[in-house]
Amino acid sequence: MRGLVWFRSDLRLDDNPALAEACARSDQGVVAVYVITQEQWQEHDWAPVKVEFVRRTLEELSAALSAMNIALRVLTVPRFQGVPGEIVKLAKDSGCDALFFNEEYEVNEADRDEAVKERFESEVGEVYAFTDQCVFKPGTIRTGEGRYYTVFSPFKRAWYKAYERDTEAVNPIAKPRKLAAMIGEPDAIPDVIRLYEAVPVHADRWIPGEKEAHRRLKAFVNDRIDAYKEERDFPAIDATSVLSPYLACGAISLRRCVYEAVRWNDGKLEKGSPGAVHWISELVWREFYKHILVGFPRVSMHRAFNLSSERLRWNESEAHLRAWQEGRTGVPIVDAAMRQLVQTGWMHNRLRMVTAMFLTKNLFIDWRLGERFFMRNLLDGDLAANNGGWQWSASTGTDAAPYFRIMNPYSQSKKFDPDGEFIRAYVPELADLDAKDIHDPSQLPPLARAKLDYSDPIIDVSQSRQRAIDAFKALK
Ligand SMILES: Cc1cc2nc3c(=O)[nH]c(=O)nc-3n(C[C@H](O)[C@H](O)[C@H](O)COP(=O)(O)OP(=O)(O)OC[C@H]3O[C@@H](n4cnc5c(N)ncnc54)[C@H](O)[C@@H]3O)c2cc1C
Repeated sequence: MRGLVWFRSDLRLDDNPALAEACARSDQGVVAVYVITQEQWQEHDWAPVKVEFVRRTLEELSAALSAMNIALRVLTVPRFQGVPGEIVKLAKDSGCDALFFNEEYEVNEADRDEAVKERFESEVGEVYAFTDQCVFKPGTIRTGEGRYYTVFSPFKRAWYKAYERDTEAVNPIAKPRKLAAMIGEPDAIPDVIRLYEAVPVHADRWIPGEKEAHRRLKAFVNDRIDAYKEERDFPAIDATSVLSPYLACGAISLRRCVYEAVRWNDGKLEKGSPGAVHWISELVWREFYKHILVGFPRVSMHRAFNLSSERLRWNESEAHLRAWQEGRTGVPIVDAAMRQLVQTGWMHNRLRMVTAMFLTKNLFIDWRLGERFFMRNLLDGDLAANNGGWQWSASTGTDAAPYFRIMNPYSQSKKFDPDGEFIRAYVPELADLDAKDIHDPSQLPPLARAKLDYSDPIIDVSQSRQRAIDAFKALK
């Protein structure tokens, strides 16, 4: 057998089931392929910073595969529809008779894979697909009645039970050994990707690749995991792992992350270091949203999980949407966070919740517009996690924040950025204000306010909060 490994959101050698299995089964060598589908990416709102991160990750992956005697071929097929034909053609041209890939769960991706599978099986040979983005295949963790869980806590309990039971599934798979000979030659990774020629300047601040992902995981687990529970909500502290960009493109696996945290925590999932327990639980949130994507495919088609919320009549203020996007709302913590997103491609989790609630509850703008803006700017953009986070914040989702529990951005700011350090880093107009005034400069005397090059809030937070509550109440 000669296996063709199709890489997608699994750009790594470690703990890669498709790659490991292809290497184990193939006695005639292995070929690898990655397909650039730039028009589809654009339609799916992939951010330029994410595309550049993937492109550079591919450079590292190609070199690592070459060292194992596997050539990475790179195809460019603008849309998913063209993928089955090109994969089959490459398999035939390179003498491959089996295809290996790790599953993806978004609706278009799953349809594409089905089409590839059908065509490959009818024209070439066997197709092998593996669970990779989750520790447990979506659909295998169900309630007693056989339904998908829609509430996180019972899902997590069932997941923990499965983790303790299924010792096979939870162990990462070792990187395969070097093969005897390379089949063909690797393709050069393009320097630029069409439609994504304008690479944002902040793309350079991110170090891509599997090596960096492992370095980060190790550093986080050794130095910061213990304090994670207490410090994770403070955006000015470097307290979280920032592994989400690596998980999104698969430079590291979720299973590897859980495994290393559990190992550090003396084999415990729910006891031991509160920091480790909390971090593991966050990884399970990631998996929960993937299961939701499969159980309720409408969420990947711009539909609300809670269908009654589709009767809400959102505000359509272009000016408010633009002020939010540009970090000009006059609410410092919101502006600082939105500028962090646009200037770096990443945003702290606490602030993702604060800005999403501000957009959907105070400005009362449709969560889909926020979801899309995040995707278009995030390095770690991931449909399941992003949609889950947005629908949680908008109270339209599974196990969402109750509609009446609306975060007040000023209280959040005082609580989680008490000295205003994070605000100062991204809103230089306010850099000279002290910790008392920086959270809400609209409370300063008029003269002091006039000296600041910073606008008044575009909305009254308490009035708008009540309006949102009334709108949700009216749905009942
Ligand atoms: C409105 C909104 C949009 C979001 N969009 C995305 C997105 O597009 N991509 C994305 O990866 N995450 C998203 N999240 C989840 C979360 O904000 C990020 O995963 C986290 O900030 C990444 O930072 P970290 O790697 O340092 O996380 P850590 O705190 O170190 O957590 C470790 C990992 O756990 C997972 N995780 C943590 N919190 C969550 C969560 N609430 N939901 C799902 N997984 C979680 C992530 O994979 C993360 O890398 C979103 C959250 C909200 C509220």
